[in-house]
Amino acid sequence: MMHTPHWQHSYQALGRAYTATVAPEPATAPEWMAWNEALATEIEWPDMWRKTDLALAAFSGRGELEGAKPSASVYAGHQFGQYNPQLGDGRAVLLGEWTRSDAERFDIQLKGAGQTPYSRGGDGKSPVGPVVREFLLSEAMHHLGVPTTRALGAIATGDRVYRNDMEPGAVIVRVAKSHLRFGSIQYFAMTRDGDGLAELVEYAAERHFADILAAKDATTLEAKAEVLLEATVKRIASLVAHWQSLGFVHGVMNTDNMLLSGETIDYGPCAFVDTYQADAVFSAIDSHGRYRLSNQPGIGHWNTSVLASCLLKVLNSQEDKAVAYAQSVIDEFPRWYTDAFKTRIAAKLGLDSFRPEDTELHDTFLTILERDALDLTLAYRWLTHQALDDANHTPIGDLFTPSEDLIEWTASWRQRRAVNKGDNQETADLMRRANPVVIPRNHLVASAIGDAESQDYDKLEAAFIRWQQPFDWHDNDALWAATPTGSERVTRTFCGT
Ligand code: AMP
Ligand code: MG
Repeated sequence: MMHTPHWQHSYQALGRAYTATVAPEPATAPEWMAWNEALATEIEWPDMWRKTDLALAAFSGRGELEGAKPSASVYAGHQFGQYNPQLGDGRAVLLGEWTRSDAERFDIQLKGAGQTPYSRGGDGKSPVGPVVREFLLSEAMHHLGVPTTRALGAIATGDRVYRNDMEPGAVIVRVAKSHLRFGSIQYFAMTRDGDGLAELVEYAAERHFADILAAKDATTLEAKAEVLLEATVKRIASLVAHWQSLGFVHGVMNTDNMLLSGETIDYGPCAFVDTYQADAVFSAIDSHGRYRLSNQPGIGHWNTSVLASCLLKVLNSQEDKAVAYAQSVIDEFPRWYTDAFKTRIAAKLGLDSFRPEDTELHDTFLTILERDALDLTLAYRWLTHQALDDANHTPIGDLFTPSEDLIEWTASWRQRRAVNKGDNQETADLMRRANPVVIPRNHLVASAIGDAESQDYDKLEAAFIRWQQPFDWHDNDALWAATPTGSERVTRTFCGT
């Protein structure tokens, strides 16, 4: 059935101590930094709230959107492996769930809108830098095909926030399938609020996995908990495989930054690798490399096992049965992850399928990239044009110089492609859709941030537009696609918390 788009506030209806009513703090002199018209259209956002003064006022705490009911939610989480019993939306305010005419729901959240009951002494604000990073990265990830929260708009508040220095403040309007985190489940499990946990589990399963519940005829709490666990673990395994295939380092895979919906969230200290390094770390606070590139699948596994342990009480009233079920799901993570990763790599290498011997082929490829300090994204794209036999007709030749070892490696790669079943023009065409020309490179993000801090949003806009078509060549791609050199390189990122 079709309805007029409207707000819902089903979190608030969740009875237990889950949300608190809050009010965004008024900004002094708000101005638009960026607006995402395509997303506004996608979610059927009303015209009167699109980059209008009305919307600017509402997103900066100086007005209201009719029907919105600002609130903040509680959650807990393991941060760098340490359990923190109470976190929550400390710098985020949920306006409500915007509901499209087809009933699809989107959480609309203001991040950086001031203090909430969960701010724990923080100011609830965000500097311009993290807002620009999230705006650009989340939208680029979406266009790369990676499940992620989205960004509807970004606003400079005209206020100063104090971090290491005084910095200009900003707010991002974040759109998500929901903001239900592993940490939301943890909060109720660890406070032993059985009713709260049961309510949240049913809510999450119904909100995200209604189709699976229907297919399995899952109507009891136990059955819904099983679906929630299995479906979430599958989605996270596939999400992390996608990150790995692109060289995306999330940087802060705390359990409060993992969504039950399987979307990427929290673009704090994240970055893509340029020259390939298996153990790449960018986050200034990740001193032990817990969240380094190569460790992300293992951390995904660990995080999902935390989720499973928090669901035991609702999975089965008999503890041994609950444990056996949870264990059986968690034990599948490596297989689900590996299958998803192999599928992606097969497409990236132009293979018909991933055969056992392809592990060595791909491992050797990565070893060569790392040893010869070659760019991950450009290397895959260079291979794509080798397969398409058009290496001379694209700018790739000016941007990427293969090493001798890499050229030698292509002999075994060609041999392997020669035994592909089916049409190799097809696998080559697929490579074009699997290997982006451009990714949101850190030095370009840093440069857009630098300008935005002095109220120049041209680079932000240009990057936002360019990264909407990552798989195609554009005219000035010498700028967008090139790997950074020398002092251009950004090796550290900060979450700006
Ligand atoms: P994060 O590291 O961004 O995942 O944030 C971890 C926790 O700290 C979350 O509960 C945030 O809401 C909270 N937090 C981060 N920055 C601030 C801030 N400036 N003011 C209040 N709370 C914050
Ligand atoms: Mg977070």
